[in-house]
Amino acid sequence: MRVIKDIPQMQKIAEDLRQQKKTIGFVPTMGFLHKGHLSLINQSKKIADVTVVSIYVNPTQFSPNEDFDKYPRDFKRDKLLCEMAGVDIVFYPDHERMYLSNHFTYVITDQLASKLCGKSRPTHFRGVTTIVAKLFNIVKPHYAFFGQKDAQQCFIIQRMVNDLNFDVQIIIAPTKREPDGLAMSSRNKYLSSQHRKDAAIIYSSLKKAGELIQSGIKQSKLIMDSIHNNLQSVPDLKIDYVSIVNMNNLEPVENITEQTLIAVAAYFGSTRLIDNIIIN
Ligand code: AMP
Repeated sequence: MRVIKDIPQMQKIAEDLRQQKKTIGFVPTMGFLHKGHLSLINQSKKIADVTVVSIYVNPTQFSPNEDFDKYPRDFKRDKLLCEMAGVDIVFYPDHERMYLSNHFTYVITDQLASKLCGKSRPTHFRGVTTIVAKLFNIVKPHYAFFGQKDAQQCFIIQRMVNDLNFDVQIIIAPTKREPDGLAMSSRNKYLSSQHRKDAAIIYSSLKKAGELIQSGIKQSKLIMDSIHNNLQSVPDLKIDYVSIVNMNNLEPVENITEQTLIAVAAYFGSTRLIDNIIIN
């Protein structure tokens, strides 16, 4: 496994691989890898000839009051996990090289970025689309893998790829969960042991919502009430949003009829957790 820090060197390797007709699978991450990331790596290894993982905590997707400085980082451990998972190349750039001091260009997916998570994180998706576009131009992947846990991110990146004609196929992998259902996340590490236990309510409230829908209840309001009631049973949990939206435009739906996304964001103290389910 090679660790590449230099951007032109990564571009050259990608170009050479393309010339040799090798397909490149790409898994962008912010490191502190867990089984969710590893599931994306495994998918890439099945589909692509060469798997590239990037490890970069992207400052432009954090606002000044967020956790950029304390975001967990452990490159030694990540490198070992990548090696064990059979990754071919880890792209691990320095901040100074990723964003030069005169960086001015951003990719903006206007209205989409202000919905759901964008309400409490107004500049977040601008940072995500910008770094993903930059990484696509550096790693030149044929396939890029993202997790459904970040459903709005998947949706926005797919739109960016369509709208800007990136020649890459986006593949979305299911959310990996802890045994109690909590979606795996690098941020789970911030939770106290009590909050960690209580955080299982996020997925169990979504699962119950899914069961209600299965039993015939289709009005979004009733489903949202059920999720709110469940989440409110945990004393320290603060709801950021519970939203039921159409998967194809992220607009709220009154009745659950077509591909519907049920998404939740909640805080334990300053730790913000998200999760979702898709109803077909
Ligand atoms: P992050 O390092 O949190 O930016 O995540 C990097 C990629 O891993 C993103 O595409 C995430 O959606 C994905 N990911 C994060 N957590 C999970 C999970 N629990 N299951 C599947 N994919 C995940």
